[in-house]
Amino acid sequence: MSILPQHNHYLTRSPTHNPWHRKRIICSATTTPTKPKSSPNQLTFEPQFVTPPNLVTSSSTPPVLNDPSLQSTWSHRTWVATGCTTVLVSLAKAIAGAGDSHIWLEPMLAGYIGYILADLGSGVYHWGIDNYGDGSTPIFGNQIEAFQGHHKWPWTITRRQFANNLHALARTVAFFVLPVDLVCNDPIVNAFVGVLAGCIMFSQQFHAWAHGTKSKLPPIVVALQDVGLFVSRSQHGAHHRQPYNNNYCIVSGVWNEFLDKNKVFEALEMALYFKLGVRPRSWSEPTTDWTEETETASQVAVQ
Ligand SMILES: [Zn+2]
Ligand SMILES: [Zn+2]
Repeated sequence: MSILPQHNHYLTRSPTHNPWHRKRIICSATTTPTKPKSSPNQLTFEPQFVTPPNLVTSSSTPPVLNDPSLQSTWSHRTWVATGCTTVLVSLAKAIAGAGDSHIWLEPMLAGYIGYILADLGSGVYHWGIDNYGDGSTPIFGNQIEAFQGHHKWPWTITRRQFANNLHALARTVAFFVLPVDLVCNDPIVNAFVGVLAGCIMFSQQFHAWAHGTKSKLPPIVVALQDVGLFVSRSQHGAHHRQPYNNNYCIVSGVWNEFLDKNKVFEALEMALYFKLGVRPRSWSEPTTDWTEETETASQVAVQ
């Protein structure tokens, strides 16, 4: 796979106290997966001024208020209903199983672990589709394009109808949770799977609320954001500002500080780059397709 020339941020070992130092070098690089570079010392860079490529293929105009792309279809609603049903069955089996066996602590603990891991999972998934692939990527192409469009027009998520926003994750949840519902009667497993899958499915709703205006959100949502049970508006707002490479988690955001402080995603990006030669989008200068466009007066007027 060849890497197109562009303005890049390369992560390089720094002699200072900071182990991973972000250093800007304007250059081009070409690599192939068949001949992976085995160490940073073997990389050769030829400095040259180049134009950043257009990395995003999404539409150049934002959706309008009643845009069909923001509306729920009956297919969307059916998938969300199916996903919710599989999650509720899992939770109901957990409660029934706990009642029968008089074991409550372990299922509750398993549910809590599911909630914590859902936040981590949302961050890993969000990081992946923010940084790799494009609209033509198999399976994830639509999600990648949607998230890239979201970075350009973040406010549109608040106009997106509920089932439209959740249907893709609901479909995945339904496929994974249904088999568990059918074969598993362990209340601990049911509690873990039900809470994990439910939080993953609703992560896009938590995300939409993180883009909401405090005065327009239900008071209970604001309260849950303020206590940290839902990702906060301020924490997710930082994800939409330069350098666009942090605060990826969108359930509670509890993992964001740890992941960003320890540069976990930057380490994963380095590993993928040296192993596969694939460069994440966050290493490139943000193009106009990635940076946020402000709302026009007419778009504000239709709110
Ligand atoms: Zn993002
Ligand atoms: Zn967002």
